[in-house]
Amino acid sequence: MDDTSANKSKKWKPLHCLQLQLAGLPTNLKQNPQSIKFVAASTDVPILEMARAVISDIKESERGVSTFDAKRGEKVTVIHCIAVCVCDFNMMAEATNHMGANTKKFCPRCYADKETCISKGMVRQSEDTRRILNHLSINNSRELRQAHGLKPSENPFWDIIDPHRDIPVGILHWLYLGLGKHILKACMLELSEPKQEQLDVLIESH
Ligand SMILES: [Zn+2]
Repeated sequence: MDDTSANKSKKWKPLHCLQLQLAGLPTNLKQNPQSIKFVAASTDVPILEMARAVISDIKESERGVSTFDAKRGEKVTVIHCIAVCVCDFNMMAEATNHMGANTKKFCPRCYADKETCISKGMVRQSEDTRRILNHLSINNSRELRQAHGLKPSENPFWDIIDPHRDIPVGILHWLYLGLGKHILKACMLELSEPKQEQLDVLIESH
């Protein structure tokens, strides 16, 4: 699940797209374009709407699909499930009902916040998130949204995976979203005041 960047300097419209890949492929075939199955793309349909159609198809065929195994020469029933959902930070936020990078609890995987940004926070649990989303669907309170960085919206992923657990973190996207800035800030705070002043002078002198 992917989108083109929401970066304002990009002149084209964001394009949401969905692709599927067999989980059991050998590693050397995973990057092969022929191993990636294009499913849907749109500039206008929100990503979760597109995902809803795909997830509904997957759920419908949960009882198995009858087909033919050419190698064994016999009829077989294929039963499938989603192993992981691969996405970048923005898409991961969408799939976990998270408010995104600009919220105080900015991580869709844990409760790290802007004060403790450099260390991992308490890991988010899907039962807790479901409970909070239930509360929000009854009373959409700003405080509760801010306290957890969650937004109530229809999200078909909760029916088929645990979005906190089953979406691997794309580390490159996290760096792009400002981790470098936070590391620099954390390093600066570690320095004593005279050292900070010394560094200021050094930077000024260049
Ligand atoms: Zn985290």
